[in-house]
Amino acid sequence: MFTLTGARVVDADGSRDANVVVDESTGRIVSVGDDVDGETRDVSGLVVAPGLVDSHVHLMMDSRPDVASYRTEPVERACYRATASLRETLEAGVTTVRDLGSPGDLATSAKAAVADGDVPGPRVLAAGENVVMTGGHGHWFGREADGPDEVRKAAREQLKRGADVVKCMATGGVLTEGAVTGAPELTEDEIRALVDAASAKGVPTAAHAHGEEGIKNAARAGITSIEHGMFMDEEAAHLLAENGTYWVPTASAVLEIVEHGIDAGIPEEAVAKAEDAAERFEVAWEHALDAGVKIAMGTDAGTPFNEHGQNALREMELMVDYGLSPAEALDAATVTAADLLGLDDVGKVADGYVADLVVLADDPSDDASAWRTTEQVYRAGSQVV
Ligand SMILES: [Zn+2]
Repeated sequence: MFTLTGARVVDADGSRDANVVVDESTGRIVSVGDDVDGETRDVSGLVVAPGLVDSHVHLMMDSRPDVASYRTEPVERACYRATASLRETLEAGVTTVRDLGSPGDLATSAKAAVADGDVPGPRVLAAGENVVMTGGHGHWFGREADGPDEVRKAAREQLKRGADVVKCMATGGVLTEGAVTGAPELTEDEIRALVDAASAKGVPTAAHAHGEEGIKNAARAGITSIEHGMFMDEEAAHLLAENGTYWVPTASAVLEIVEHGIDAGIPEEAVAKAEDAAERFEVAWEHALDAGVKIAMGTDAGTPFNEHGQNALREMELMVDYGLSPAEALDAATVTAADLLGLDDVGKVADGYVADLVVLADDPSDDASAWRTTEQVYRAGSQVV
């Protein structure tokens, strides 16, 4: 046992002064209040918050400007790269990540490697391979499938390899040459087959979707979360709100591409598509906030200049720029993201919760930049920073 004493505890339940008692043997919080047990670690004047949950990362990628070069590398190279990305992510205060697409068993194996203690890192949830139409967005690292029957089989293959979520491509994307960003890809019937297969196992689903038609196809098919949703219109936002569909905006992904541009080595076509999407993004936020769509934090870490770990700190600030309060951004990155991932013991500083904690100099419910003031990081009760 150890106790963080004199803390200002900040989470979705608000802020209060308390000691936080942690049992290292179970990795869980034992009490939040007046109790003190075991070794004391004085954190007076500091804030204890839950670790961040990033709902959208790619462990196969390392934020290089042009994704084309991954295609000529062996998958084993990507695995070693992922071990470094996992460590950097955890050290930044991100204690849970969800990989939404890596080749083969890369991400499901990362999950096992972290859980077994072979590699330091955040808790990993993994989608396995993305289900994508033949030649569709990210086809070169996805599982191509056409028609409801093939899509159902492709979804079941991911479930067989232990997927925690099944991900598909409902529209084109920025980083695939020739793909039209907003154009629908998998049809509503195909997505419905994927959702049916995953739901039968109680597993959530996610759809990459930029254009409004693709967003609506996925929402009507019962998808759990819309990823990106850059061109979300009013009707799509209402559909998400009515269905309880989560939105994972990944603001840093598109903005890093726009800000770095072709001079930094990003292909011209990708920059043009990102600029186009970024222009519409503010409107998507307005519709989502007006309709009351549930927002979960995700970064798309690994895409160009979208660096594992540090980018989550930027995403917290960007969500505030687009209209959330710092406290709402905190909710999006803790309890709401945990709900989306199906985790009921992560995202709060509360009795019985996993002791995934960050100790910060400043209060993140007042200022989203406070996530940059990390003093300590705990993953399941073990101090890593
Ligand atoms: Zn992605």
